Amino acid sequence: QRLRIGVLFGGRSGEHEVSIQSAKSLMQALDPSRYEILPIGISKTGEWVFGLQAFAALQTSVPDYLANSYQASNWGDCAMSLAQLQSLVDVVFPVLHGSFGEDGTIQGMLEMLNIPYVGAGVLASAVGMDKLFMKRIFGVAGLPQCAYCSVMRQEFESDENAVISSIEREIGFPCFVKPANLGSSVGISKAKNREQLKQALETAAQYDRKLIVEEGLNVREVEVAVLGNDSPLASVPGEIVPSSEFYDYEAKYMSGSSELMIPANLPEDQSKQLQMLAIQAFQAIDGSGLARVDFFIEKETNRILINEINTMPGFTIYSMYPKLWEATGVPYIELVGRLISLALERFADKQ
Ligand code: ATP
Ligand code: MG
Ligand code: MG
Ligand code: MG
Repeated sequence: QRLRIGVLFGGRSGEHEVSIQSAKSLMQALDPSRYEILPIGISKTGEWVFGLQAFAALQTSVPDYLANSYQASNWGDCAMSLAQLQSLVDVVFPVLHGSFGEDGTIQGMLEMLNIPYVGAGVLASAVGMDKLFMKRIFGVAGLPQCAYCSVMRQEFESDENAVISSIEREIGFPCFVKPANLGSSVGISKAKNREQLKQALETAAQYDRKLIVEEGLNVREVEVAVLGNDSPLASVPGEIVPSSEFYDYEAKYMSGSSELMIPANLPEDQSKQLQMLAIQAFQAIDGSGLARVDFFIEKETNRILINEINTMPGFTIYSMYPKLWEATGVPYIELVGRLISLALERFADKQ
């Protein structure tokens, strides 16, 4: 009996395209003799499309390996209701990044349907997605982080000058302005003066009603992958050398010239410390399954600061998360198998 896996991909967030790529890598890695795949695409406007039709609906090609193995499946390409999902899959892998996917909403739906799913639960997803609450939880857990403040769009729109002056006083320049709930660097800009700060706030305000402003640091960027439930493991750290001034959307997905150095060239004790902090961060938000924890190492002081945690990190075969595990001794295919086992284990623990 093959395990039936619903792969949820696409989604309503700004990271729709990234999700499609992650899902295709994942589906390719699922051994058709062990797993039966039900692709479930979510369009940018939120329509759900089940089966092979999902690819056309999301304007992407059906991968060959899937077109071939799919004939053996007893799922039709028919419309299906969410309630039916429960009887059709054994586990769901929500390979969705950003809002309505990485933020606890889909996780809550799957909880209600009583379907096991890969990755973080409702709380961890929500906390990991909201940069303000993430920072507050990290603060309580005693994790080192940079100076920041939050601004509501409403505050900014009602008195731009007051908001800008207070940021100038509290944070100074350069600073980074971010929408609180997003990923893939969408809506993030670096500001070096008042004029740029105003522009950056306007940009971020297009994506969210809540904004974060952080001190801009001169840093190396290092990431650690975490895998597990109640006794999580940390991978070797990897370093990103961005092709742009910072690791923006373009540097992440377009130019292809950002370099990943795996493992990162760091002293042994610093690597160990990063791994320890990554696990602390994972546990601070009550993570499960997987997470990628992103750090800064300040160049002048060598100080480690936590930047953020991503509960459903990029999952293509070229992405940092799977590559970190590969370098730590867990190849992609095995990683997928372990994530599915962790999902079933977590589900069983709750019963
Ligand atoms: P992800 O795709 O990893 O979810 P994200 O959209 O959540 O990313 P961040 O990781 O918060 O965004 O920031 C994106 C990038 O901006 C970082 O990788 C880094 O290059 C740069 N950056 C963000 N904050 C700072 C900071 N305080 N100082 C220096 N650089 C920063
Ligand atoms: Mg993020
Ligand atoms: Mg992210
Ligand atoms: Mg990041």
